[in-house]
Amino acid sequence: MEKKYDVIVVGSGPAGSVTARFAAETGAKVLVIERRSEVGVPVLCGEGISRKIDDWNIIEGKRWIAGKMEGARIFSPDKTCVTLAADKAGNETGYVIYRDIFDQELARLAIKAGAEFMMNTKAVGLIKQGGKIKGIKARHFDEDLEIYCDIVVAADGVDSKVAQWAGLKTRLDPKDLETCCQYTLTDIDITEAYCEFYLGKNMAPGGYVWVFPKGKNIANVGIGILASLSESGMAKKLLDKFIENDPRLSKGKSLRFLAGAVPVSKPAEVTVADNLLLVGDAARHVDPITGGGLTHCLEGGKIAGEIIGRAIKQKDFSKENLMEYENRWKQGFGKKIKRNYMLKEIMLDMDDKTYNMLADSLKDYNFDELSTLSLVKALVLKHPTLLMKLKPLIKVSKESKE
Ligand SMILES: Cc1cc2nc3c(=O)[nH]c(=O)nc-3n(C[C@H](O)[C@H](O)[C@H](O)COP(=O)(O)OP(=O)(O)OC[C@H]3O[C@@H](n4cnc5c(N)ncnc54)[C@H](O)[C@@H]3O)c2cc1C
Repeated sequence: MEKKYDVIVVGSGPAGSVTARFAAETGAKVLVIERRSEVGVPVLCGEGISRKIDDWNIIEGKRWIAGKMEGARIFSPDKTCVTLAADKAGNETGYVIYRDIFDQELARLAIKAGAEFMMNTKAVGLIKQGGKIKGIKARHFDEDLEIYCDIVVAADGVDSKVAQWAGLKTRLDPKDLETCCQYTLTDIDITEAYCEFYLGKNMAPGGYVWVFPKGKNIANVGIGILASLSESGMAKKLLDKFIENDPRLSKGKSLRFLAGAVPVSKPAEVTVADNLLLVGDAARHVDPITGGGLTHCLEGGKIAGEIIGRAIKQKDFSKENLMEYENRWKQGFGKKIKRNYMLKEIMLDMDDKTYNMLADSLKDYNFDELSTLSLVKALVLKHPTLLMKLKPLIKVSKESKE
């Protein structure tokens, strides 16, 4: 192993691998370090992703696809169903994937582009000289390493230690964090390829229950609840109750259980510093309504890789020079994160009765153009009393043209 790289990426999740690939494609010398022994394992994901990635040229083949979805069904607390076609259904509902294979494919493409991967290697600190970041201190099995580089990428997920070591304020308020758990259930009575979302204050406070089919008679069944409305063990208890009360699922057998957290915050204010970039969950690139982060990780990783490549060529690793990364993602999907954070706050104020009323209004709506703006307009038309509440959202939706 070399002792000096242009770039060290901490974390081999989708954000890390895509950043590594696009930086390596510019000729940069890239090392990815990962504390786990296998890329993508264990899986911590509902495994839903939009079909818009088909057009992105970021992943190859089809091995990572478990199921192609027809669309999404959203159920209000009284079980009124709003159906959305796959191309209108947002970020998490085009495919259900095998996340382990998906992550490994992204890593393979990074390696093909020239990046090196080092597994079983945990970052434990930053090397700093005169206040400047100069590399990573890491532990590889029982060996302590110091590896030097010009740029460190924090792709180490929701609880990014790299960002903390760099002194960036990334602490999440419990109201901006979802506590999640999920079973992969087999032997269930699910045959249709629709991602299902269930809303309700008692069913999933500040979040939702999801059923994402992975094939015939197998599905990821999970729950996310807001940490500020949760207590220890609550997510699993509520999920078990949901499964018990759904005759299609109650006899299912679990192949996998997982628990994790998702940031549902505003876009991170600061995602670059001298010699440092944050990507993916570490940069809070997650949709605050759905908790979906995959598409944004890919988009953000690609921008980060390109800007890093340019900075390496220019030998300028300053915050000012890396700032274009932050400007580009904030001007792109960052606007949607900002708007959906606002929508999340509005939704948190709504009671189950309002959800039922909204679902009833939207159940027969023809979503040939699904945008937040068109949705809000349709709602205000039916319920003029909502205008005051939704006014700020109309403004940001117009700005973000979604
Ligand atoms: C239960 C659950 C369900 C979800 N469902 C969906 C969904 O259906 N669709 C969707 O789009 N998103 C979903 N998400 C969110 C999605 O999983 C994340 O947005 C995505 O994984 C973020 O990718 P990332 O590369 O930023 O981080 P991660 O995938 O978390 O990868 C971070 C990597 O960094 C490594 N790492 C951490 N610290 C260190 C260290 N010190 N040294 C070395 N390596 C380190 C970790 O081991 C890990 O491999 C879900 C999340 C959860 C928890």
